[in-house]
This record gives sequence, structure tokens and C-alpha cells, in this order.
Amino acid sequence: MRGRAMPWNRWASWLGVVATSLLAGAAVAATPTPHGDVLLLPDRVWTADGDVAHPGWAVLVHEGAIAAVGPTRSLSVPADTQRIELPGATLLPGLIDLHSHVFLHPYNETLWNDQVLKEPQDYRTLAAAVHARATLLAGFTALRDLGTEGAGYADVSVKRAIDDGMIPGPHLFVATRAIVATASYGPGPRGFRPDMDLPGGAEEISGVDEAIRATREQAGRGADWIKLYADYRVGTDGSTQPTLSLAEMKAIVDTAHLSGRPVAAHASSDAGVRLAVEAGVDSIEHGYGASEATFRLLKQHGVAYEPTLTAVESTAQYFEHYVPGQSPPTARMQEAKRAFRTALKLGVTIGNGSDVGVFAHGDNWREPANMVRDGMTAPQALHAATDVAARILRQPQALGRIAPGLRADLAAFQGDPSAHIEDLAHPVFVMKDGIVYRTPQSTP
Ligand SMILES: [Zn+2]
Repeated sequence: MRGRAMPWNRWASWLGVVATSLLAGAAVAATPTPHGDVLLLPDRVWTADGDVAHPGWAVLVHEGAIAAVGPTRSLSVPADTQRIELPGATLLPGLIDLHSHVFLHPYNETLWNDQVLKEPQDYRTLAAAVHARATLLAGFTALRDLGTEGAGYADVSVKRAIDDGMIPGPHLFVATRAIVATASYGPGPRGFRPDMDLPGGAEEISGVDEAIRATREQAGRGADWIKLYADYRVGTDGSTQPTLSLAEMKAIVDTAHLSGRPVAAHASSDAGVRLAVEAGVDSIEHGYGASEATFRLLKQHGVAYEPTLTAVESTAQYFEHYVPGQSPPTARMQEAKRAFRTALKLGVTIGNGSDVGVFAHGDNWREPANMVRDGMTAPQALHAATDVAARILRQPQALGRIAPGLRADLAAFQGDPSAHIEDLAHPVFVMKDGIVYRTPQSTP
């Protein structure tokens, strides 16, 4: 059932158009194989080395890896190479989103509480597969999925099904259940009958021993990253306050690092961000309330930052009547923008992390677009979603650039996103590990 050859037949059935259009031109192949020599011929190539796109360049793919990139005439192309023309398009490294939740869907469809309380895990897992496919077809070939939000360890199975070739999806780096302080995270507990036994959106711990146990448990069951919540809305007035203690976070970080796993911290208050950085986490998620002094600390410690601007914009649309392009930015959006610009000014490593799931899977392009709206150049935003993201993932030799030897994870977009970031909304070609999932001829 598993392995490389069998699953292609399944793809061929759901991706019939792509399969037919590609195979029609193939010289060999009654039995198609996902690997072989493929020459990609876009209008231009943006490799992530440097800022400019190169007109007249092509990319040669061999056996699922990038074999060569450069001016088309300079490439030595084997005789039976399949050629894929991508007129009007720019070819990029497959994009990376460092903050996703494939088990969530937009809160204006179903509130977070209702998703966690009323949607069975089986249903959510099937939905996650659909979300993974939408993500890949949008040109995002790798995701760091930061917590199943009450769906247990099901992300490990989604990742396995993708890796086994059973379902299409990006490379997943998963965090499983995530770790929160007791009674600090939803659903509830405030607002519900105290005698109700509610399912948790994450794993609750109190004390260093439980912190160590939960980290080992999640790592042992398949977490690639450990996700902790340094703060949450636990103040008497519902304000965001620190939750886990410094000692608890240090225990999580030390335990995770011992096993070679990095730690991502949800933190949006200045105190929460500061504590998490002091505890030694590897990335800060959100960070809206962090001061300039605190961002300096991130810079000093080499901690990465994912601004999740689109999560803020989306909740403003759902709950604050914000209309993109018409309303002035809300107070929360301005706060997020201030944090983002501070980090940018100080040279903090900024990765593309959107919190997609709050908004629709496949609309991941909105985060790089919002980073440009709030002060990055288009090439800066593309770097945040490619080579910089790959470094944050500890995958710089596999992902995030177009260079010989890297995985053939590639996406082409109509136009030129390195000049107009919104062109990321128009994917025309997607390849992952040398397998084509989308072509200009296919309409998935
Ligand atoms: Zn999140």
C-alpha cells in the first residue's frame, strides 16, 4: 500500500487532467512514474539567492531533486526530458507557512469553541486532508502545523498519509497537542458550568514534572516541534497575562532540546514574550505586544518571529466589521503592525507564519501580502516564506531555495511576485519532490 509507485495511480485518478496533460507529451510510460527528468520553462525564476527574478532561466528536475538552474541555453538537458512551459509565470521555491492549523477552519464558518466541542476528531481529520490539498495546490509545499487544537495526535497521521503518498499535501512539521498551563486555555473553562468536563484545545500541565512528562509524551508520539503557550487571556478582565512559569517553560525547552526538537511559543504580551525568550524558545508566535527592548532580546538570542498578521486581519473582519481596502485598520491590527515594524527595523529573523485555519486554507498568500502592506519589500516577504523559513525549520539544505541538490519543491505564479506580491494569489504550477500537482492546463 505504501511506497512510491502505487500512490501515483490514486493521484492520477483525482488529478486526471494533470496526469493526462503531462502524460500526453511523454515518450515512455504506460505506467507513469513520479520521477524523471523535467525541464520547467517559466518566464523567469526567483531562486531565493538574492532579490531579483531571472528572465530566461529554466530549472531542470531529476529524480525528485533540483538538478540545475540557470539560463535555459546553459543547461545540459537529457534527450528524453519532459518540458513544461509556464508562459507569463515566475517560478519560485515552494512556499513555506510556519504557522498553520490544518485541523481548524475559518471562525466565521464555525467558532473555535464549536469546532473543538462539536466536531468529532474523525471529521476534523478528514477536513485536515482536504485543507492539506488546498494548501499544496496554492503553492505551499511545507507547513509547520502548530497544534491540532483538540484533535489529539491526529496531525501525525495526516503527515504520515501525505508522506506515504495516500493524500496530496505539503511536507508537514507537526506539534501535536501543544502545551498550556492548567485552566488557561479553551474551550472555557470560564463561561461553562464548572461541573462540565470539557475537552482541551491543548495539553494542560502544572509543575516542572508535568512539563517534562508532556514534552516527552508529545515528542515520543511524533511531534517535530514542541509548542507552548507562554500567555493567554487569563487576566481578571480577560487581558492577556503570562500562564506557564519560567521554570515550567525552561523544563519544556530543555526536554525538547535534549531530543533535538525546537520549541515554538505562542506569546502576545510583552511579559509573555520576554519570559519565553528567557526560557530559551526558538520561535515567538504573534508577539503583538512585545516592546522594542523585548524584540532586541529576540535578536540577541537568535529567536525567530512569526507575526501572524493575517490572523489579526481575519478576526477583525469576522468580529470587528473590518473590510480590507475600505476600513481603517483596527486597534489590534495597528498593534500587530507596530510589533512587525519594530522587529523588521531591528533585524529580527522574521518567518512567514500566518495562523491559517483562522482563515481559509489555500489563502496562505495573504500573509506575505500583509507583510508587504505593513512594511516589507516583496522580495523580503518572499524570503520570509522560502529560505528564511527553511532555516527556521532547520531544513536549509532541503527546502526554501532553487539550487542543485535541494528537493524539487517548486511553485509558479502568474506574473512576478517579486515585484507584485499579490501575484502569489495566482498559482499556475506546483511540484513537490518532483511530482507535479498542478499545471496551467489543470483546474483543480
Ligand atoms: Zn496558531
